[in-house]
Amino acid sequence: MSLPSKISKLALSHVPGLEAYTPGMQPSGAGWVKLNTNECPYPPSPRVGEALRREIGEDGSSLRLYPDPTSGPLRAAVAALHSLAPGNVCIGNGSDDLLNLLIRCCCDGKSPAGFTLPSYSLYPVLVSIQNGAALAVEFDRSMRLPVEKIAGSQARAFFLTSPNAPTGVGFPRSEIEGVLASFRGLLILDEAYAPFANEDAIPLLGRFPNLVVLRTLSKAYALAGMRVGYALAAPEVIGWLDRVRDSYNVNRLSQAAAIAALSDADYHAGIVRRVKATRDRCYEEWTKTRGWFTYRSQSNFLFVEPKSARGKTGPAAARSVYDFLFSRKILVRLFPSHALTAPFLRVSVGTDDEMGVLNQSLDAWLKQAPDA
Ligand code: PMP
Repeated sequence: MSLPSKISKLALSHVPGLEAYTPGMQPSGAGWVKLNTNECPYPPSPRVGEALRREIGEDGSSLRLYPDPTSGPLRAAVAALHSLAPGNVCIGNGSDDLLNLLIRCCCDGKSPAGFTLPSYSLYPVLVSIQNGAALAVEFDRSMRLPVEKIAGSQARAFFLTSPNAPTGVGFPRSEIEGVLASFRGLLILDEAYAPFANEDAIPLLGRFPNLVVLRTLSKAYALAGMRVGYALAAPEVIGWLDRVRDSYNVNRLSQAAAIAALSDADYHAGIVRRVKATRDRCYEEWTKTRGWFTYRSQSNFLFVEPKSARGKTGPAAARSVYDFLFSRKILVRLFPSHALTAPFLRVSVGTDDEMGVLNQSLDAWLKQAPDA
């Protein structure tokens, strides 16, 4: 067989021009204070390790076998947790898997997918992979939910993150209800950070068949490495997801780990309590003592606008802090591509010790770069 002369022509025409999603850096080597990808600073429930050892057994023999294709026992556990039926649940290889499936189900060149700006930057990437139409709704600096604009949009599916990323701002259930009251498309409410929030929208599921709620075990269950998320929706929507997903989309070990993590409600509540306490203490310090504007967060991260000793804020100040922290092996995240986010840093909530190290370095930055 002779090779085609122009290999690039073999891909669909939009594929060579795609820009891949850039996840936060996962550094190799020890010694980093990692506050850049909103992982949990604490280990998962001890039940997770036990479940994994049980699943692997003496010789790993169970790994010869494919996993349960429907993640049945895990679906049942999730359903029980939220007082829903297993038919309301689909499990994903992380909630990113489910976001991808929902785009496949609802979006093409004629059927736009909507999202806010800023929000989780994976959404536009998934739309472009699908070669679909995108419809962006802009926030202003208040970061209040533009209820009317979303409700009146022509999107077939609208991705709304609550609490939002990267700001951490949570939206009241009444406002989500306000969107649903007149929005005709599918509202995909990405509640990745909802365990750290004041309220969530799960109680609305029974009344609005066009609502999908997405959750992840990556944050408040400390299982980012296992890749487990889930969708809660009307059985009809769950049926679409089951038709388009990989038949074995969640591996054996991840299913076992997730069931164990969900079974330990006290441990989970402890993680959430500790993260929220550290978050709220940092918020007070940064806003009151440092005088740095920070959005009130309902998530496991803070979105803060650094201010130099001479009172300067802006993208250059944010970049300067980022570089300074990086040189001290402290990783946070910059979002330079949007005017509303470029002057800010997103800082995942770490342990109290990690936040102490961060604060010392912020003091050192203030001394070293007074005019950044
Ligand atoms: N949604 C939002 C808003 C997120 O920030 C993330 C994590 N980057 C995800 C979904 C994906 O989470 P998972 O690890 O479950 O794929």
